[in-house]
Parts: sequence; structure tokens; C-alpha cells
Amino acid sequence: MSEELPKTIKTTCPYCGVGCGVLATPQDDGSLDIKGDPDHPANFGRLCSKGSALGETVSLEDRILEPEINGKVSSWDESLDLVAKKFSETIKEHGPNSVAFYVSGQILTEDYYIANKLMKGYIGSANIDTNSRLCMASSVAGHKRAFGSDTVPGCYEDLELADLLILTGSNLAWCHPVLYQRVMAAKQSRPEMKVVLIDPRRTMTADIADLHLPIAADGDVALFSSLFKYLHENGFENSNFVGEHTSGLEKALDVLQDLSVDQVAQITSLNASDIQQFYKLFAANEKVVTIYSQGVNQSKTGTDKVNSIINCHLTTGRIGRPGMGPFSVTGQPNAMGGREVGGLANMLAAHMAIENPEHRELVQTFWNAPTIASEMGLKAVDMFKAVKDGRIKAIWIMATNPAVSMPQADEVKAAIAECPFVVVSDVIHSTDTVQLADVKLPSLAWAEKDGTVTNSERRMSRQKGFLPHPGNAKADWWQMAEVGKRMGFEDAFTFADAREVFIEHAKLSGYKNDGKRDFDVSGLADISSYEYDDLKPVQWPIVGQERAVKTRFFAKGEFYTPSRRANFVPVEVHADAKSASEQLTLNTGRIRDHWHTMTRTGRSARLSSHLGEPYCEIHPDDAEKLSIEPAALVKITSQHGTIIVRALITKRQQLGSVFVPMHWTDQFAAAGRVDVLVPSITDPVSGQPALKKVPVDVEPAKMATYGLLVSKHKPSPPKLDYWALSKCVSGWKLEFALGADQEIDFSEQSVWGMPKKANDISYLDQDSGRRRYAWFDGEQLESALFLSESPVEVSRNWAAERLSETFETTSDRYKIIAGRPSVDQPDKGQIICSCMSVGSNEIIGAIHKGCLSLDAIGEATTAGTNCGSCRAEISEIIHDNQILAAE
Ligand code: SF4
Repeated sequence: MSEELPKTIKTTCPYCGVGCGVLATPQDDGSLDIKGDPDHPANFGRLCSKGSALGETVSLEDRILEPEINGKVSSWDESLDLVAKKFSETIKEHGPNSVAFYVSGQILTEDYYIANKLMKGYIGSANIDTNSRLCMASSVAGHKRAFGSDTVPGCYEDLELADLLILTGSNLAWCHPVLYQRVMAAKQSRPEMKVVLIDPRRTMTADIADLHLPIAADGDVALFSSLFKYLHENGFENSNFVGEHTSGLEKALDVLQDLSVDQVAQITSLNASDIQQFYKLFAANEKVVTIYSQGVNQSKTGTDKVNSIINCHLTTGRIGRPGMGPFSVTGQPNAMGGREVGGLANMLAAHMAIENPEHRELVQTFWNAPTIASEMGLKAVDMFKAVKDGRIKAIWIMATNPAVSMPQADEVKAAIAECPFVVVSDVIHSTDTVQLADVKLPSLAWAEKDGTVTNSERRMSRQKGFLPHPGNAKADWWQMAEVGKRMGFEDAFTFADAREVFIEHAKLSGYKNDGKRDFDVSGLADISSYEYDDLKPVQWPIVGQERAVKTRFFAKGEFYTPSRRANFVPVEVHADAKSASEQLTLNTGRIRDHWHTMTRTGRSARLSSHLGEPYCEIHPDDAEKLSIEPAALVKITSQHGTIIVRALITKRQQLGSVFVPMHWTDQFAAAGRVDVLVPSITDPVSGQPALKKVPVDVEPAKMATYGLLVSKHKPSPPKLDYWALSKCVSGWKLEFALGADQEIDFSEQSVWGMPKKANDISYLDQDSGRRRYAWFDGEQLESALFLSESPVEVSRNWAAERLSETFETTSDRYKIIAGRPSVDQPDKGQIICSCMSVGSNEIIGAIHKGCLSLDAIGEATTAGTNCGSCRAEISEIIHDNQILAAE
């Protein structure tokens, strides 16, 4: 690769399934200027806070730059030979099902293609699964049951064209922020457009909702099944569509005969009148889109939820036409690409079915493969159970962190540690999973790797490698292909570059297809290097020489079942037995500014400024009952483990349930991995784990000392009951706490693994138990430490900002340990707008000066004027302060 840096590059954001186009321009100082691509049809120039901060995540800090065997740097040849040898020997001795690949929605389609080909066609097992199993496997299963194929029928434009938009199990404002911005803009231009939010929590998405239904966890099947029945009984059925293009209506209705709205109200904890209002809205609006995401998928009834939604759209014929349809939005940037190449244990390549002998024969012939997997492999949860009980003896993990993200994460971590041979391909050294690897393989990161990704609306975009490959890092597809060659399959795995892999993938999609399968990109099978480099974002299918594309599917039927009719799937409604216990229900999910296990976003001070600690949202009445004070630490315990996080008391949280984000790992917190609490219960059809309904006990975590450290250097915390580390603009911020049985002398900076500085000042208040220390290097503040017997009451942003100042006089220095902003340094409060670094106090100040709209706040403070991801929170602050003013 040329070392000369190119000008502006058109590429794709590597985070969520919206798949926004990015313009990246390398700067002379080595930084990257990042903007949204105005020509990309997913975002038309918009980016959210995460996308906007991509330039802050590309440093080489902590990168794996060379292959390593047992912690020692090795060559590629030696490492790949060892991987091939170990896998071959294990297969020879224990059979093909004794090995596994666990891959990721973060890798590119070309990477996925090679991984799937090697495992299913050459090793002869289907033990390849992906972290997308945790994300959208229930949508795949629901699509296949209803449509006969894993097809997303609509496109993003439908969200803007709908007269009624239903969001169920989707916090679009935080998890798919650019789609949320598109919806918000559409609603502003057509105020008559209605939005219904179905979610146990009043998330930030509620800001645009005309109706919020705070449904009980897993109440969706009852709600949508009863809607399906209502539509049928009240004459809203599209009998032409049903008659010509579907089958199984009667059977699907039969199982709902006895379901009443009162029962639904009981199961969902919703008012019968709200339920009726929702049904009337659905019935009255022809143009309806139902968006669903992890709140639907991550459930033991996830697939039934998906089919209960699809049944409503099929019965009204509202599918595949502008502004209509069920719409699954994926969590990851290339979950869809993984589905296309068959990267799940229950699929074959190119949307073909592993259980279909004709498809197996077709794929094997196309690949000229010695074998083909003939039965489903182990899905993610079962795969790690097999690692634990020794059935899997060699595993290759790629671009994902199962030691944190899998249910029963402690057991998964222990299982990986015990597995005889573990290969991990990744970018960062310090992930919980990389640390367990026998062989570490350095992968290319975003901005270095080349290939394609597919977003939630079936749009393929190029992700481009435009920064030099650091050290000896290599593409994931190359690593797998090299191992394939070394296992004796030289011909099948010889590819010059990612384009050659893509071409084979495109050819397979069209092989003996003739319109029988939905996934067909054979129109790109002759793509030249120039065209591949310059590939414009395009929706599949892409067929024939003219490269014809299809924006929507199924308006005129033509489903992919043998009869070409869609199936109504009978979905039975069961009420979960009400628990008599005092336990709360734990829900897990994403936050606005972090991504997965924070390996990238945790490097950005801007993104860490919004929410810098693992936390638990809890309703005020539950907090009072459990004697939990604001900002106290709480211990959350399930049958499988315990975590300690900060309490965030809010009415957004439903009574009886708590919410904890999924992002914190052992690298960023002492005990913040929420998935250690989650049992490995899965949906029986999709195998997707239920991550959103876990019975837990919550109690105050009693601590004797609370602390806050801000430091220019990354601290290494000693063994503490609680700590949480985050980046800040000029250094690091560490929150911590310890119990009465822990004795640590905090007067020495070396406690944090930092060199001792002589130039320090301290302060001790015997009565309040407050202790403060500040260490200086010349006139620069090195670190400041605040200790207290109760949660430290010091503005975090104010303290962190002091790291970039100089302190000439002793009196200036004492202002630090006073812990209070002086008049000329007002406290911003919690950062709300991370792009422009605007805090809650600044927004409230502007409100008090009469700024009562988003635009006015933006003009006065700049908050919300860049990516717009914070606009829902600003609206809430305006709303709350107006209520306060009226009281
Ligand atoms: Fe990236 Fe944000 Fe767009 Fe998702 S919405 S693709 S995270 S910029």
C-alpha cells in the first residue's frame, strides 16, 4: 500500500446497522477529518456522535501489530502453520465438529465469505456462528418462517413515508441515531405523521412518540397477536392480498380464538384503552411501518414476536409498498453481510438453506469442495457450552469479545481459558477475550481494511482501507485463506485481494438462481478493480448485465416459499407466571455514545464524557424501597453472578425493573460486565439469547470510602471493590470506592502505578472525612484525588478540565483541592452534547434566559448543532425545566 495519504475517501461507518456513508480526510498532522457523506442514501450527510468521533479512535495505542504465540512475538508463517496444524490435528483426531469459528458482525462480507467457505465446505462442519446471533437471529428466523427467505422487504425511505411509525423494542434515538434523525425531520415536515413507541422504558425515543406504551417485558407477542385478531374481526383485512399471496390465515387465527383485550392488558401491563387506541391507529393508517430491534429479538420468544408483527402486515397487505412493512433494524454494521454469506450456524452461503439437499449440492459443486456441512452447527450459546464441556477443542474467535458479551459471561470466560487451543484475530491487545488467546493474530482496523458491508435496508457499501497497514497487521479474509491453504486447500483459497473474494461471492449468489432465491448480486460478478474501488452504495438484488436493483420486495407477493405465498405463522400467546418474589427484572442494552465493549469508543474522551461509568437505571419508588440514594453504588445479583454499578434514579425506568448498559468490561470497570448476570436462555427457534428479562436482586453496595481521581496518566487501580475508568480530554478519570475492610494509603501517587512527584499538596477535613490530594509537575497538574465517606460531590468535568491548565501560585493550587469551580470557571454539569462539549448546566442556563426550543438552545450554546444525537435529551431538559417553572 502506498504511504502517500490520499485526499477525501468515501467509506462507511463501522458501528451500527444504519451503515452511514463517511467522508474521511487524512490531515497533515496524522489526524482524520470526518464528515457524513451527503451522497450516501443511508444518511445524506448526517452522522451521529459515534460516527463523528471516528477520527479519535484510530490511534495505534494498544494495537496488536505482530502475531503472537503464547504471548511471544512470532512470524505470520509460524503462526499460521501452527493454527493450520492444530485445527487439522484436532479434526483428524476428534472429527470436524470438534473445531469452531466464532466471528462477528464487525468483519466485512469478504472476511465472512472465506470463514464460511473454509468451515462448511472444507472442514465439513457448520460450527461457525457470529455475535450477530445475539443481535438479530430471531428476525432471520421470523423472516424465513413467513417469507421462506431472510428478506428485509423495505427501505429507509419507508420510515419517512409512513403515516404511522411503530417502534417496538427499539431505542432508535440512541441505537440508530441517524435513522432517528431522519424520522424526526420527517415528522417535523409532516406533523400529522404519528409515532407509537412500545418499550418498557421511556427511552429518549419517546421524545417523538405520540403514544408510548410502557409494555411489560416480553408482552409483544400478546399485543401484536391481539392486533392481528382485531384487524381480522373488524374488517381491516386486505382480502385480495391474503387470497392471492398468503396461506395459513385460518390456522394462525385459530390459536388466538380465546384471546381477549383484557388478557392482553394483563399480560402487557398496559391500559385496555391504550391498547384500543393503538389498534385503531394501526387500522386507520394504510401506510404503517413497524420497526423492531433488540427488544424484540433478544427474547426467549423473539421469533414469535417477529412473526406476530409480520402477521399484522400480511393480513393488511401492508408490505413492500412505499411507507409500509415490517422492518428489522440490525445492530451491527455488517450483520446483513454475514447473513448473505451464511455466516450463521444454521445457514448456507448466499441465503441457501443447510437443511435443503439441493442447496447443499449446489454450494458444494460451485465451490468444488471435498465436503459440505450437512446439518446445523452449534449456535453461539451452545458453541460456548461445547467449549466448556470439551466437545470443542479448538476455536478461532474473530473481531468480537465473547468473554464480555455472552450470557453467563464468567463461565464463557472460564471456558475459553480452559479450551486447548484458542486463536483470536483482533485489533486491540487489552480485550477480555484477546488476553485468553494462545495465538493472537493482528487484524486490520477500520480505515485500514477493504471490502463491503450491507446495512439494514440491504444496501451494500464499500469500506475502504486508506491508512497504511500498521506493523504486520493483515486482513481477516487473508488470515483465514492462508490457513485454508495450509490445511491442504490451496486452489480454493487463492485470492489476490478482497475484490476477487467478492466476485466469487457474487457468482455464487447467481449460480442456478433464476429468481428462485432472494439474494442475488450476480450483476456485480464481473466487477472491475476500478468499479469495485468506486462502488456506489447499492441495494440488492443486483441482477443481469444492466445491474437492475429492487428497492422493495413482496408488494405483489412472490415470496420465496415453495408455493411463492407468505406463511401466516400461528403464534400462541402464553402469560409468564407472575413471580411472587421481590426480584426486579433486569433489562440490558446500548447507550448513545459507546459501542459494544468500548474497544474503540472507550478511546474517545468526547464519547466518554456523556456517561463515564456503568450504571443502573432504577425507578424512584424502587430506589426508596431498597434504600438506594442518588449516585450510590448498587450491587446487582442474579443466579449467575454479581456486578457493582452506579445508581441512576429515574422515572424513565418502569417500576419493578432496572436497566444496565452492556458496554463495560474488565478493562474499564472492576465489576461492570452485565452479561455475567444473564442466564443462557435462548429462543428455541432462533437460538438467540434472552438478554432483556433477567430476575435480579438489587441492594446498596455499602462502601466506606468513595473517590475520584483525575490524572494525566492512565492509572492502574489497586484491588478495589469498585472502580470505573474513562478517558477525559487531557487524561483519565477514575471513579472508585472501597469497603471498610480495605486499607489503602492514598497519600502516595504510586498507589495508582504512577511515578512519585514531590510537589504535592493535600487537605484533610477530620469532621467530614473529606481528603484531597493534588500532585504537580512544575506548574502542571498531574493528578488530583478527592476522597469522601459519601459519593464525591465534585464536578467531574470541571476537575478533568483542570488537567490542561497551569497553576502558578500556591493559592491557585489550593483551588483544585477546594473541589469547587470558581466564579470564572462555571460548572458545565453533565455533558449532554458530546460533539460541542455542552453540559446540562449550560443548557439550563440558556432555558432560564428564555431559550425554549432546540434551535434557540443551539444558537445560545451550540448544543445539538453538530450530529444531533443529543437533541432528544435537550428536549427533555427543556420540558422538565418548563414543568419546574410552572410549579
Ligand atoms: Fe455510524 Fe451513527 Fe450512522 Fe450508526 S447512526 S452508522 S453509529 S454514524
